[in-house]
Amino acid sequence: MEKQKEIEKLHREIKQCKKCSLWKTRTKAVPGEGPVNAKMIFIGMAPGRKEDKIGRPFVGRAGQLLDQLLKIAAINRKKVFITSPLKCLPTPPPNRKPKKEEIAACLPYLLEQIDIINPQKVILLGEVAFSIFFPKQKLNEFRGHWLKKEGRQFFITYHPAAGIRFTKFKRILENDFHHIGVFKLEA
Ligand code: URA
Ligand code: SF4
Repeated sequence: MEKQKEIEKLHREIKQCKKCSLWKTRTKAVPGEGPVNAKMIFIGMAPGRKEDKIGRPFVGRAGQLLDQLLKIAAINRKKVFITSPLKCLPTPPPNRKPKKEEIAACLPYLLEQIDIINPQKVILLGEVAFSIFFPKQKLNEFRGHWLKKEGRQFFITYHPAAGIRFTKFKRILENDFHHIGVFKLEA
């Protein structure tokens, strides 16, 4: 099947998914967005309230910071794929940390997206995304670095939400995104 058709079919499936209990409280599932031939994919944590209302990833406050960070990297948001391991708002309370069993139920969707898109570079935003791909490693040992796995380059950094809460993390994120910008064209 053509890639575009494949991802559209997957996203339709996600929007109707009932594989964990979060389907009962979601307004909209958030499959993610971006071109199916993107060379780079950004992986966050889970939709927040605004994402749940609108059905698009990173459109709330963390999204505003992500937009600023992408500017630092001179990356056009429309040319990368942006998504999360969890496709529905974790609640109650709204915006709580995802549970292990929710991530486990939802993860096949993210893995299928990566399969279809086949990006060269995967940017892991924060602990939840990092621990999926590197469960035995510590984020702080690898933050700011590229790790190679299964033929792809993974870059490890914080979640933009951390940068909203603490200036220290915001500075580190700015540095990391500057670095991503410098290396974005390398295979
Ligand atoms: N945080 C995420 O991890 N993903 C979103 O889509 C929004 C906020
Ligand atoms: Fe399905 Fe994922 Fe939503 Fe749970 S979070 S209902 S597994 S799409």
